[in-house]
Amino acid sequence: MNFSWALIALLSCCLLLIALPSCAGERSLHTPEILGENSNSGRDQFEIERQEMVEYQIRARGIQDERVLAAMSKVPRHEFVESPWKDFAYSDRPLPIGHQQTISQPYIVAYMSETAEISPEAKVLEIGTGCGYQAAILGEIAKEVYSIEIIPELAARARQTLSQLGYENIEVKTGDGYQGWVEHAPYDAIIVTAAPEKIPQALVDQLATNGKMVIPVGGGWHQDIVVLTKTEDRIIKKKTLPVRFVPMRRKALKW
Ligand code: SAH
Repeated sequence: MNFSWALIALLSCCLLLIALPSCAGERSLHTPEILGENSNSGRDQFEIERQEMVEYQIRARGIQDERVLAAMSKVPRHEFVESPWKDFAYSDRPLPIGHQQTISQPYIVAYMSETAEISPEAKVLEIGTGCGYQAAILGEIAKEVYSIEIIPELAARARQTLSQLGYENIEVKTGDGYQGWVEHAPYDAIIVTAAPEKIPQALVDQLATNGKMVIPVGGGWHQDIVVLTKTEDRIIKKKTLPVRFVPMRRKALKW
């Protein structure tokens, strides 16, 4: 009896000794392959998620402008957010970009870009560069884009991301967008991505005749997107979507 237990124990040890190195070997052999597969499928996964975002969040909700749809299919939104958020880059929601600011939900970016009716020859002003994602979409569909960001760190990061992605038709400046950017005016379209309580007159003045401004307007966190059209002789304003943008900040007044 004792002898047979000893034999079983001995055989188990031998089996364990044979099995252990092969397990270890298997792990070390497969680990690099698995990592490689993951990093490839990670890249493909973003591409797949981006196409699904365009179909299910954007086209399905009524965005029809093919140039906007093509831009949304092309621009790598995950490059504009920081690591913890990359996996959520194509989800149907706004995301944090630091400094208590957010990148808009993809549909809102598409909606504003389509509503502004931007031609390939257009010169566009954006107020609120944030991470630069909306600017990149505009850079795809317009000729020139000027974008203003009030937080210097965000402006610097957006400049870096946009230049790494090769955008040469987008200029980002640090400043208060409430005043617009008079040097490059007039603009064929103005897109504002931070909400003022009322439409800044400087922006209306810097809009070209027949130009469109798309701007969230309202106090606090409840606003409506207003589409403002400037004709030869009047300004037409139309409220469209209820939205929630970050409030437009104003530099402290100097006395
Ligand atoms: N369009 C951005 C998201 C904008 S979030 C994107 O694609 O990421 C709104 C941005 O507007 C914030 O970065 C905020 O700092 C900026 N902002 C707020 N008030 C501003 C002002 N007066 N002038 C310029 N930028 C302003």
